[in-house]
Amino acid sequence: RKGSVIITGASSGLGLATAKALAETGKWHVIMACRDFLKAERAAKSAGMSKENYTIMHLDLASLDSVRQFVDSYKRSGRPLDVLVCNAAVYQPTAKEPSFTAEGFELSVGTNHLGHFLLSRLLLDDLKQSDYPSKRLIIVGSITGNTNTLAGNVPPKANLGDLRGLAGGLNGLNSSTMIDGGEFDGAKAYKDSKVCNMLTMQEFHRRFHEETGITFASLYPGCIATTGLFREHIPLFRLLFPPFQKYITKGFVSEDEAGKRLAQVVSDPSLTKSGVYWSWNKASASFENQLSQEASDQEKARKIWELSEKLVGLA
Ligand code: NDP
Repeated sequence: RKGSVIITGASSGLGLATAKALAETGKWHVIMACRDFLKAERAAKSAGMSKENYTIMHLDLASLDSVRQFVDSYKRSGRPLDVLVCNAAVYQPTAKEPSFTAEGFELSVGTNHLGHFLLSRLLLDDLKQSDYPSKRLIIVGSITGNTNTLAGNVPPKANLGDLRGLAGGLNGLNSSTMIDGGEFDGAKAYKDSKVCNMLTMQEFHRRFHEETGITFASLYPGCIATTGLFREHIPLFRLLFPPFQKYITKGFVSEDEAGKRLAQVVSDPSLTKSGVYWSWNKASASFENQLSQEASDQEKARKIWELSEKLVGLA
């Protein structure tokens, strides 16, 4: 049978390119989990994906009710689940004020981390039950959360501190909107959320890999300077960032190439190792990359897991 893969945020950028790459093989049915149905349908059409290779399902990660509804409808659809890709993200580098999810969490961490945390926890059993040769849970990470890299050292740097803001609910009322308890900073909130993504992948690996056989992985696909992720940045940045990445840092990858990389992490028979953060070298070969100290801190991973469970209503 065909593999079934859910990709969140498949209506643009990396998610769409990955959906396209997998659909084209004819071996995968892609469930595009998106907040904007029409946009996703148009995107799939213009990417040339054929109808029998995908299904669009509504999912708004900025609402835990929506996450629960998505999981219910998926379970009722009777489809097996072989791979889950947590890809969607918001990035608000120029926001002066925080925005919030339906439950009142700061939007970047609420969407990128907490929404995906609940989604993957609720779908873990379905992955476990899959009889597919290699079942996988992939959470897209980023270099920007890794302070052991040049890109990760551009201020404001990711820093989760002692997690006091997360413990307080990130709501701006009785707690800070930032995980470390500091002043709101949209760019930092995004980087912090990516550190949570990478720590969550490793915590999943420690808790569930042996028992379930699921491969847990994260990756940095390269700098895809052309995606919608930078839509809220100032116009001059959006103009200069792609050529800067292409000619100066040489970290630039096209959406197509990045999609092929993520598609490898989904389906390549040689990428079954669990607990790995994948990156690609200049020749586009994959390798196991090192995470920064904070992004591999086991104690922090455990604390984030437990605090997140409380916030999303699992504990
Ligand atoms: P895009 O902005 O193009 O894609 C993000 C996707 O997330 C969109 O489909 C968007 O939906 C979706 N999304 C946002 N909020 C929600 C929500 N509340 N519920 C459901 N879906 C939502 O950015 P990229 O493709 O660049 O980003 C994809 C992933 O790649 C992210 O995890 C990002 O951190 C990571 N990444 C990107 C890099 C880059 O250089 N671009 C580098 C490293 C990692 P909609 O279309 O409706 O807006």
